[in-house]
Amino acid sequence: MIMRMLSFCRRVRDWVKGFVERAMTERQLEEPELAEENLVRDVSVPVPMPKSEPRCAGRANVQVDGVLTGGDGRPVRTAIVYQSELDFISRCILDYPHIETGGQLFGFWTAAGIPVVLFAIGPGPRANHQAAFFNQDVDYLVRVGQMLIGRYGLQHIGEWHSHHQLGLARPSGHDAATMVHCIKRQNLRQFLLCIGNCTDTASELNAFAFTQDAGYDYVHAAWDVKTGASPFRTVIARDAALTALLTEPATVHPSIGAIYSVGDRATFVVPTYAAGYWLNTKANNLVLKRLVDHFAAFALPGSACVVQMDQGKCVHLRFDTKAGAMEIVFPQRFPLESPLVLRDGALCESAFARWEPADDLFADVCAYYDALTTVSGITTTTDIPDVSKGEKDGSIAL
Ligand SMILES: [Zn+2]
Repeated sequence: MIMRMLSFCRRVRDWVKGFVERAMTERQLEEPELAEENLVRDVSVPVPMPKSEPRCAGRANVQVDGVLTGGDGRPVRTAIVYQSELDFISRCILDYPHIETGGQLFGFWTAAGIPVVLFAIGPGPRANHQAAFFNQDVDYLVRVGQMLIGRYGLQHIGEWHSHHQLGLARPSGHDAATMVHCIKRQNLRQFLLCIGNCTDTASELNAFAFTQDAGYDYVHAAWDVKTGASPFRTVIARDAALTALLTEPATVHPSIGAIYSVGDRATFVVPTYAAGYWLNTKANNLVLKRLVDHFAAFALPGSACVVQMDQGKCVHLRFDTKAGAMEIVFPQRFPLESPLVLRDGALCESAFARWEPADDLFADVCAYYDALTTVSGITTTTDIPDVSKGEKDGSIAL
């Protein structure tokens, strides 16, 4: 009996560790090729999977709430969640309004393959929060995950993380690649990825359903929100051992903006960049992430490279350096137009800086920034006119 229990515990631990390790190493993963055999699968052959992994039990089309859902390997268009879990995630997101945070989603799949989010967890105490990525505290996830799976039989059905004020209300290209890779490697039928966004005062959360068969062709699923508290949150609140482990967000009150729910499926539009903006492609989202990582290295210790979107829907990178507060603005016509580089609010210009983009936008932006700022020590802020008044002629020439 003891041996069987030990064996079960080991299986649960190994599974949680396996998934976490993949989540933690996502930044090193290459975008995988979809294997041909994944596109055509013999539905009569059961897919062997460990007990604790999410699976899609049904493969026939099923009518739920008047909405045809994908039992044919297509991602479902609905995700069920209790209000208590949306509230919990909202508080977590608002704890970090300018930086990424995240956690995991536990629950079940319905026979039609619809995810039911019954218990969400947030970042553990040693999670790594950065402007452009988030890594969960592995130890925290393993310990909490073991209890949620072992004591309550919940399944790890998805992940969530926040893109804070980046203005990207969907998975980045890197996020999608990570999902596709994990689903394929784990031989999961499907997985749920939720992306949060926020202002300083309210949060949003969008659900994206991935399946092995659909690969990168994921679906933005509408929330079917069940009012009140998840029965599992209520029960777990009385579990002293588990609540002692769980990290609570500091933000006391949830504040949820518009969410895409089954009731407004026809009218809801996810906030996106303007048509034609460079960040509308997955490849360029990867470029932005690389730029954020690159410029974070220029930032003063303890500060980050923050990504923001202005009212004109242009993305700005901001970071504080020894030379001053730097800002890189990507105008609507970028990369046809150069990025703007500002120091302490003043436009940087240099006879040596030419914007001549080639094939590699990341390298082009880095080189342009370097050309504009390498002699930055010469100028002082007292020489710098205010470009916000449009005094382009008065901007500094280095
Ligand atoms: Zn992301």
